[in-house]
Amino acid sequence: MTDRDPIADLRRIAFLLERANEATYRVRAFRSAAAALAALPAAELAERARSGRLTELAGVGDVTARCVAESLAGEEPVYLRRLVATEGTDLDAAATALREALRGDCHTHSDWSDGGSPIEEMALAAVELGHEYVVLTDHSPRLKVARGLTADRLRRQLDHVAAVNEALPEGFRILTGIEVDILADGSLDQEEELLARLDVVVGSVHSGLNDERARMTRRMLAAIANPHLDILGHCTGRMVSSRPAGVRGPGDRAHRPRTRAESDFDADAVFAACAEHDVAVEINSRPERQDPPKRLIRRALEAGCRFAIDTDAHAPGQLDWQRFGCERAALCGVPADRVVNTWPAERLVAWARG
Ligand SMILES: [Zn+2]
Ligand SMILES: [Zn+2]
Repeated sequence: MTDRDPIADLRRIAFLLERANEATYRVRAFRSAAAALAALPAAELAERARSGRLTELAGVGDVTARCVAESLAGEEPVYLRRLVATEGTDLDAAATALREALRGDCHTHSDWSDGGSPIEEMALAAVELGHEYVVLTDHSPRLKVARGLTADRLRRQLDHVAAVNEALPEGFRILTGIEVDILADGSLDQEEELLARLDVVVGSVHSGLNDERARMTRRMLAAIANPHLDILGHCTGRMVSSRPAGVRGPGDRAHRPRTRAESDFDADAVFAACAEHDVAVEINSRPERQDPPKRLIRRALEAGCRFAIDTDAHAPGQLDWQRFGCERAALCGVPADRVVNTWPAERLVAWARG
């Protein structure tokens, strides 16, 4: 006998998922399993768990069966432990505190690639938001649909940013960067010398999003091991809703689907690599991305990863979208000290160069 009640644990998980506004089907899995198991005599429950026959019951799947097994062994189920991290916290206050702790934004675009506004406009909006810095991360050459910058154009942009920085208010600066495509073989789509010069390198998969699991995992692991990569951008590539009106960008063409499923990869391997190589996992704030989904944010947190809560803004007003990312991070219990853009610019740049 143990002092844990597996059915109570399943119900607790369902409650916490509902509180976190998770998808109904996910909540239902736990409520259905709790109901199915509550109908069994305790001895039969224990016997089925022992012999691995819980999943023969209607309404009990692999995930819920694992929770029951852990619970019967007297342990708090891992799934529950991940959710409990936010229990008892005022999520609204936690999201606000996280937003207030952010000093800058590590993923933004200008009209040099597929953004709608000049660099100066983006910078002035960031100043008004109270940011201390913004990292300019226009696209790399192969993303032609987004007017990705060739090496020569990026060199010109670096000169331009230096000039713009001269004219900006004291205490604020544009940091140089790129959102570099992670190519099919996991290499990064820009000259090595340039990647080394930039303050912050965000790497994202924009092509071959349907790569099969092993191939996508290899591709991501190769990019994460690249010493120039600092932040892994929108890691699943999913699109949960259509792009807001007036927002330009890759994926905007009429024939594109309005939504896109997550890419398939071994998340535990990818997040373990991010923790090992000290690559931050981006929490992309764009309403149509919400990437990664909360269950993956929780896994990255468990893996010991750092995060960057970024807007991926393509227009000045979108720089204020960080709140959306902060809400999702707070729901998953991400602490401010794990978020690299809560740091001053000097620390961020030193970390990225390290
Ligand atoms: Zn992107
Ligand atoms: Zn982007």
